[in-house]
Amino acid sequence: MDRRTVLRAGAGAGLAAGLWAPVGQAAAARKDADWAGLKKLLGGRLFRPGDRQFWPLNLPANPFYADRVPGGIAYPQTPDDVATAVNWAGENGVKVVPRSGGHNYAGYSTTDGGLLVHLGGMRDVKVNGTTLTVGAGARNADVYAALKDTDLLLPGGRCPDVGVSGLVLGGGIGLATRNLGLTCDSLTGTTAVLADGYTATCHENSNSELFWACRGGAGGNFGINTSYTFRLHRVQGVVTYDLSWDWKDAKSALKALAGLIAESRHRKTLACQFGLRTSGNARVYAQGLYFGPQETLMSLIGRLPRPKSRAVKRAGVWEGMSRFYETSSGDPYASGSIVAKQNLATPVIEQLVDAFSGWKSVTPASRATVSFFAMGGADTALRPTDTAYVHRDATFIVDLATYWSDGDPDQAAAGNKQALQRLYGMLSAPLGTGAYQNFPDPDLQGWQAAYYGRNYAGLQRVKRTVDPDRLFTYPQGIVPAP
Ligand SMILES: Cc1cc2nc3c(=O)[nH]c(=O)nc-3n(C[C@H](O)[C@H](O)[C@H](O)COP(=O)(O)OP(=O)(O)OC[C@H]3O[C@@H](n4cnc5c(N)ncnc54)[C@H](O)[C@@H]3O)c2cc1C
Repeated sequence: MDRRTVLRAGAGAGLAAGLWAPVGQAAAARKDADWAGLKKLLGGRLFRPGDRQFWPLNLPANPFYADRVPGGIAYPQTPDDVATAVNWAGENGVKVVPRSGGHNYAGYSTTDGGLLVHLGGMRDVKVNGTTLTVGAGARNADVYAALKDTDLLLPGGRCPDVGVSGLVLGGGIGLATRNLGLTCDSLTGTTAVLADGYTATCHENSNSELFWACRGGAGGNFGINTSYTFRLHRVQGVVTYDLSWDWKDAKSALKALAGLIAESRHRKTLACQFGLRTSGNARVYAQGLYFGPQETLMSLIGRLPRPKSRAVKRAGVWEGMSRFYETSSGDPYASGSIVAKQNLATPVIEQLVDAFSGWKSVTPASRATVSFFAMGGADTALRPTDTAYVHRDATFIVDLATYWSDGDPDQAAAGNKQALQRLYGMLSAPLGTGAYQNFPDPDLQGWQAAYYGRNYAGLQRVKRTVDPDRLFTYPQGIVPAP
C-alpha cells in the first residue's frame, strides 16, 4: 500500500494518530514539540491526526497533495491566536505553513509534520464606502457576497473558492485586470504576524518594504497576513461575452483573437480569457467582459470567425463576473505557466493546435487545458519594481494544466506531467520562461527568475529582515539574502 492509499483508507475510517511517521517530520518539527501546550494556548482549536476535524481541514484543493500530514492544524479565530501559534512554533522548532483557500497548485499550503495554520475561522468581510476590509481566511466567494448588490468591484480571480490571501499575495489576475489592474494593485494595507510574533501593520508609509513584498512576493514567505484593506472601484456595468468554436476553426479563431487583443485601442476595455480544452469534444473558447458599449463589442466579435455558440449580454458588474465563476474539478492536476511578452504569432498558434489535435490521453480521464489571460492594460500602469509583482510588460499569462482521475494508477500522474512538460517546452521556446507565481510549477527550473525577475534580490532582503531562520518555508520559498 502506498501512502496515498493508506491516507484514503485512514481518512474514511477516522485514522488514529501515530500509525505512521509523516515524511519530513524530522525536518518540520522537533520531536519534543509541546503540541498539548499549544492546544491549551489556543483554547482547544488545535487538531491533531487522531481528531475527527483534522482530516477535512487538512485536504488541499489539489488532491495530488492530500497525502501530506501536518503535526497539527491550528484554527485561529483572531490575529492574537495567529501570533500565539507562530510564537509557539518558533519556541518549539516547528515549521509553519499558512492556509487560506488551500488552492495553491503545487500544494504549498501543505506540510508534513509542521504546523498548518488554517485561517478558515477568519473570514470577515466589511465594506465601508469604497474601502473593503477582508480577514485572511476569506475566499473570493465571501467578497463576491459582500459586494454583489453594489457597483463596487475588487478586480479578482474567477474561482469563488480561492482564498483572497493567496490571490493578492501572488498578484491576482482575472477578468477585470486589463481595465483596473491586478488584485494587489488595489491593496492599500495589510497586517501580518512575523516569525518573531511581532504584528506588522504594512502600507505605503509603514513597513513599506514588507508592503511591497506582499504585492506579488507570493504567500507563505514572510509571515501570516491576518487582514487586508482594498480600494474598491465603481463600475456601472459591463457586457459579457462567451464564445466557442468547433475544432476545425481552432486556428483561425485563435489567430483572430490574438490579433484583436493585440490592438492597443482595446487594451483597457476588452478583457479576455481564451483557450483550448481537450476534454469531451476538443474546443476553443473565448470569454470575458467588455467595459464599453455593447455595439462596439458586437463589431469586434463580427471580425472573428463565426462562433459555434455565442452569448453576449449587458449586466451589472457582479452579475457579469458571476457568469464566469469557475471552480476546481476536484481531480488531481499538474500545472505550469508562461508569462508572454509578445503577441501570439501564427506559427505558435499552429503548433499549439497541432499538439492538441495529437493529444493522447494517458488514461480515459486524462485531459489538458491551455488558457490565455490577456494582459497589457491597466496592469502596465505600474513599473516592474513598484511592487514585487514584476510581470508588468506581459501580453498574456498562459496557464497550462493537465488533469486525471483520483482513481487512476500512479503512472497517470507521471504520464500527464510528461505531456505537460512537452507542451511547456513547445510554448516557452517562442514565448519565454517567465512564470506566474500564483500558478507555480514545482518542477520549474530557475523559478526565482521566472516568478520574480529582478525583484528576487529585494524579496530576499525582506526575507532576511522578517524571517532569517526560515520559519516559513516551502520548496520554492524565498531564501533570505546572505
Ligand atoms: C480553480 C482555480 C482557479 C484559479 N483562478 C485564478 C484566477 O482567476 N486568477 C489568479 O490570479 N489566480 C487564480 N488561481 C490561482 C490562485 O490565485 C492561487 O493558487 C492562490 O495562491 C490560491 O490562494 P489560496 O489562499 O486559495 O491558497 P493557499 O493554498 O491557501 O495559499 C497559497 C499560498 O499562500 C500562502 N498563504 C495562504 N494564506 C496566507 C496568509 N494569510 N498569509 C501568508 N501566506 C498565506 C500559503 O502558505 C501558500 O503558499 C486559481 C487557482 C485555482 C485552483
